[in-house]
Amino acid sequence: SCEASGKIWFNGEMVDWEDATIHVLSHVVHYGSSVFEGIRCYRNRKGSAIFRLREHVRRLFDSAKIYRMEIPYTEEQICDAITETVRENGLDECYIRPVVYRGYGEMGVNPVNCPVEVAIAAWEWGAYLGAEALEVGVDVGVSTWRRMAPNTMPNLAKAGGNYLNSQLAKMEAVRHGYDEAIMLDYHGYVSEGSGENIFIVTDGELQTPPVSSSLLKGITRDSVMKIARAEGVPVREEPITREMLYLADEIFFTGTAAEITPVRSVDGIEIGSGRRGPVTEMLQNEFFRIIRAESEDSFGWLTYL
Ligand code: PMP
Repeated sequence: SCEASGKIWFNGEMVDWEDATIHVLSHVVHYGSSVFEGIRCYRNRKGSAIFRLREHVRRLFDSAKIYRMEIPYTEEQICDAITETVRENGLDECYIRPVVYRGYGEMGVNPVNCPVEVAIAAWEWGAYLGAEALEVGVDVGVSTWRRMAPNTMPNLAKAGGNYLNSQLAKMEAVRHGYDEAIMLDYHGYVSEGSGENIFIVTDGELQTPPVSSSLLKGITRDSVMKIARAEGVPVREEPITREMLYLADEIFFTGTAAEITPVRSVDGIEIGSGRRGPVTEMLQNEFFRIIRAESEDSFGWLTYL
């Protein structure tokens, strides 16, 4: 959980953790009007490096563009502010949360007269689905909640409001004894987890749902596809049906928080051998070798502090 200490970058200034506050009548509190990112910084043998910083900041600006939010800083300024926040807090391994939101202005749904504000926090955060999950895998259930249809809310935006849908799916999953939910899209195809993308491995080939299946275009998803292709594993972005999950040899989740987490069962049905499979393990190893600077950073993913 997040420790209540340190400094937060708040509209251009470093403030104490407890002083990064907003008014209760801020637009975001009532209407979900925020966009945000989740980024990780890892310590390795060369120093501390932020993973795919530029891509995360790009996606933050893309999310803001979809919602017509004008961020009063450049992408470069936000990249610098993120690096500065990590340094200022003396963290060498952490999770970073930049958030852009509609602040306190006037009430009513129309947000255009509310200021667009930015905050960046960082704290130590371990494996999202538990440290042992990275090895043994998690148990998941297909949710009764669907991911938002494409003409309802834009899934390519990482917007606060989208996580109301995620919360419903997550709470249901936990109540049913699962670690995480898998949601289907509006057409009934597999979409994503409440905070992760999903991959299946069948006959040595990797498959993940396309962006048209109402999902967030994950940066870890992209990293895994690039690593797989470099390792000679074929990757397809094509619709996945529910029963394809049951019959897969391996399944795993990807996400900044979840990293690469194997799925050992879906709806109580064991996947493959019921343990982390060889393709999942190979991809995890290569992913962490790059992060730990044990492999060359050939994709240019690491920004050192
Ligand atoms: N889907 C959802 C709904 C998410 O919240 C996340 C986490 N940001 C992801 C997928 C994975 O995206 P990324 O790999 O960029 O963290």
